[in-house]
Amino acid sequence: MSIENNLKKIKATLPEDVTLVAISKTKSIDEIMEAYHAGQRVFGENKIQEMEEKWHQLPKDIEWHMVGHVQRNKVKFMASFVSLIHGVDRLRLLKEINKEAKKNDRVINCLLQIKIAEEDSKFGMSEEDAQNLLHSEAFAALKNIRIIGLMGMATFTEDEEQLNHEFQRLKIFYDKLKSEFQFTVLSMGMSGDYPIAIKNGSTMVRIGSAIFGERNY
Ligand SMILES: *Cc1c(COP(=O)(O)O)cnc(C)c1O
Repeated sequence: MSIENNLKKIKATLPEDVTLVAISKTKSIDEIMEAYHAGQRVFGENKIQEMEEKWHQLPKDIEWHMVGHVQRNKVKFMASFVSLIHGVDRLRLLKEINKEAKKNDRVINCLLQIKIAEEDSKFGMSEEDAQNLLHSEAFAALKNIRIIGLMGMATFTEDEEQLNHEFQRLKIFYDKLKSEFQFTVLSMGMSGDYPIAIKNGSTMVRIGSAIFGERNY
């Protein structure tokens, strides 16, 4: 299957109000351009420098999302162009993003990453920590970032019941905060679990291998 066919097939199954972020990490400029020519404009990477290199080389109407864990000292490399940072998990990082956004005279959209998987390896905040952050004065003082929703990564499993449970829990938390904080984005679902994420209310899916094929690291 070609990248174009994969994209078309996936797009056909997505509800209209669900945004597809094509995760292009490790993929070449040619492969990304194939998706671009098939109409895809939103791409996601998990390494800041790789995203910056691709941003330089690719058409400027691409919307770039950072979906990986973010190191504070690298925020400056993406602050001028990133459209959404999915993996925000601490106030210190938000402060850095705010500082770099201000230097670039812009407001950067962010999602708080909530830990929903049972594995220790997945990053993210507890619901309690997220709530405390959102209600803090330190957060209220940050004028150059906007938290527009939540992101979560489920356990790597084929156990549908467990996936349903993890996504459902994040959706309930999202709904609880939605009106107070004017959230519009619930980022959940990857190649292996996005149909289940959508069933549970995802508004944004992050799909890599089902579009571009398996990654060779
Ligand atoms: C790599 C990655 C994805 C996409 O994974 P696939 O299984 O290839 O669809 C989604 N979200 C994050 C945070 C990732 O790092």
